[in-house]
Amino acid sequence: MTNPDSQATLHPLLPQFVDRDAEQAFQEANLRETRNGLALLASAAFIVSCGTLLAAWFHLPHEQPGFLPGQLLRGLLLLAAAAAFVVVLKASKPATLHTAASTLLALGCMTLMLRMTIPPPEGADPLVALLHVTRDGTTILLVVAIAVLTLLAGHFLIHATIFALTLVGTIVIAHTWPDGAPNAAGFSYAFGSGFMFVLALGNGIQRMRRNIYVSRLELQRANAQLHELAIRDHLTRSLNRRHFYDVAEAELQRAQRYHAPMSLLLLDLDDFKGINDRHGHACGDAALCQLVDLIQGRLRNSDILARIGGEEFVVLLPETEPESARQLAERLRQAIADQPFEHGEIRVTLTASWGVATAHTEDRDIDSLLDRADRALYAAKDSGRNRVCVATSEVATATAPIAPGSAG
Ligand code: GH3
Ligand code: MG
Ligand code: MG
Repeated sequence: MTNPDSQATLHPLLPQFVDRDAEQAFQEANLRETRNGLALLASAAFIVSCGTLLAAWFHLPHEQPGFLPGQLLRGLLLLAAAAAFVVVLKASKPATLHTAASTLLALGCMTLMLRMTIPPPEGADPLVALLHVTRDGTTILLVVAIAVLTLLAGHFLIHATIFALTLVGTIVIAHTWPDGAPNAAGFSYAFGSGFMFVLALGNGIQRMRRNIYVSRLELQRANAQLHELAIRDHLTRSLNRRHFYDVAEAELQRAQRYHAPMSLLLLDLDDFKGINDRHGHACGDAALCQLVDLIQGRLRNSDILARIGGEEFVVLLPETEPESARQLAERLRQAIADQPFEHGEIRVTLTASWGVATAHTEDRDIDSLLDRADRALYAAKDSGRNRVCVATSEVATATAPIAPGSAG
């Protein structure tokens, strides 16, 4: 979902989002969360079906009329439970799982109701009576299907339709059953009420889950915004000083561990106060934003640009030798001097002074590297501005030809 505000609106009656993409995204997330629980229920259905099949085999008289069809039915339920287990684990689309669960629920209900309308044999021992009532694991299959209906997001209307049609069919069959089904009216009433209850419960739970999902998305979005606010400078959107320290310390440690070169450029705009004084603070702000775009557009993805002061920026260059860093600083210096910055009708030319430093194995933290770059930067300022100076261990050397700085 790209914009949860406009898309995550719930349908007034049905438990689904009005927007199709939002609904699809929710269903997929819901399937991932619910899959394991449903698979557990399906395996319980399999075990119970297996148990009733074996118990019937050992405890019911095989010559009893209906024994073989009964065992056949138990076998089918066993297969249905196994199929439910596989479908739950393999189905990649919630719709597949839903249709399977709907059908299972409908068939399970039909079996259970028809069998329960036929009274147990006269004088049956308690185990036989129990088998008669639990009905071949159908009950647990119903539990699986109801769990799908209530917990898994899906095509609620399809579910409801399949189940309602089966219920009507079952009631018709029960009422027209020859010489049997004396309790058909009572069971129809009980199943009908149960069905309505499951629908209402499913609807309520599904709507609640969608509301929780939307709240969670909003929370994630708010967290992402907070994170951005915490790590970025509000004016230029480049990384801020605090986050730069976090990233740079980690990069320094990595470079030292792998003996990889790492350099750092520090730049300070020349006579920026003059720009503000002559053209206004808003013009200075606009120039800072354009400067960030200009520099960022010339860096590699792994380079890190941050604003560490008013008009002071730092560029961290992993995997970069001093000479490459100097050349990059020189290119950036030239690009800034060549590019007029615009604010409405105003066009200003800026220059920047640069200090370049490279990490040593003795550097304890990023501050010692920044200190060397800072000294090089001030050497660049002292020797006329608009130039690049490279820090050596103690000395800073001007490496760019002196070009007259211009601003305004
Ligand atoms: P130089 O560095 O060449 O010595 O001269 P400078 O005028 O740039 O001096 P310095 O670096 O000390 O001054 C920084 C100026 O940058 C002061 C302030 O007016 C301006 N500045 C700092 N932050 C901002 C900002 O966010 N927006 C604008 N428009 N100006 C800023
Ligand atoms: Mg400054
Ligand atoms: Mg300055």
